[in-house]
Amino acid sequence: MKAIKDIYRIGYGPSSSHTIAPQRAAFFYKDQYPDCTRYEVTLCGSLALTGKGHRTDEIIKETLLPAETEVAFDYEDPEMKLLIRGMTPEKEYPQWSVISLGGGSIRIDKFDSGDEKDIYPDDSFADIKKRLKHNGWTLPQYLLHYESGLYDDLKRSLENMLDCVDRGLSSSGLLNKELNYRRSASELYKQAEDDLGRCIAYAYAVGEENAAGHKITTAPTLGSAGIVASIAYYYIKDKGYPEERVLEAMAVGGVFGDLIKQNATIAGSMGGCQAEVGTACAMGAAMIAWLEGQPLDTVERAAEIGIEHHLGLTCDPVKGYVIIPCIERNGIAVLRAFDAVKLARSLAAVHKHSLVSFDMVVDSMNYTGKKLAVELRETSLGGLALEFKNEKN
Ligand code: SF4
Repeated sequence: MKAIKDIYRIGYGPSSSHTIAPQRAAFFYKDQYPDCTRYEVTLCGSLALTGKGHRTDEIIKETLLPAETEVAFDYEDPEMKLLIRGMTPEKEYPQWSVISLGGGSIRIDKFDSGDEKDIYPDDSFADIKKRLKHNGWTLPQYLLHYESGLYDDLKRSLENMLDCVDRGLSSSGLLNKELNYRRSASELYKQAEDDLGRCIAYAYAVGEENAAGHKITTAPTLGSAGIVASIAYYYIKDKGYPEERVLEAMAVGGVFGDLIKQNATIAGSMGGCQAEVGTACAMGAAMIAWLEGQPLDTVERAAEIGIEHHLGLTCDPVKGYVIIPCIERNGIAVLRAFDAVKLARSLAAVHKHSLVSFDMVVDSMNYTGKKLAVELRETSLGGLALEFKNEKN
């Protein structure tokens, strides 16, 4: 299993695969070949099909400044990747092929990004539980043993999450002209009648900040960043929990996100929205269960319920913007995270052991993601994106 800290990266919206990943690739290339005066970049697959709405071309050009960059869109190559080559008037440098692994992680054919380094010896929750039992560790003790400095990184990520909710709650006005989408977080907050109503507003605040291209913390991606951020904000600001407890819960939730990243995918372009919002719901459910002092089996069960009932969820962003259905989906998934914990607690009192493990659902999610049609994996070629197109014509 890879670093938990990479589940909570800080970067600019609206999409970790379309903004953070290409930006990191551009940084690495520029750093490796600093003499380049010109770059040629080709976006393929989902990066080409939704790259405009996701600001991929803009962020690459900004990152490679002051050099001039030409960005081409290849709509024929279905693989989600970008090709980058730099040059000077006298010389051409090697072309890199960069694949997005979700949440801003990348694989580069000629360079080690460090993103695929194994930090933990285990790749399943069953194996983690065995190791905890063998060593007499709690889950946070296990994490600290293998990932030193984890909490310093998480603290920065959490601070950015809290700022992001505040910024979103204090903003208003038109967010997207083409969709005629106006920000709603602050109004939702004012109208909220209970805790869950406020949590919806917090998730919207992050979703809207993300769509505006502002600085967000992935959890595990940018499109799904509102869920964990909302829960963290709620427990700190509304319930008065100490930050340390919430950081620990983020680390616990991060384990479930990391296992999904390892054994299935957290990229909407590879597995549909089950991979993003479904994973975030599982992480959020684990977090809530941990904060509520539930035993590890119930934490696992909450995460398992959180992802199981998102299986098959498609990714069909309207006009390529991370707005419809994404923002509303963050709002509903926060409610489902709380529901998952409620159900897990009730079931724990009826059946001591769950018949379905978290690992089984992740395998099933991987299978389901591969079966999803390409039109429903962040290409804006089907589903709601198509309905919207037809409606407007
Ligand atoms: S539909 Fe889901 S996976 Fe697709 S862009 Fe929106 S949040 Fe991300």
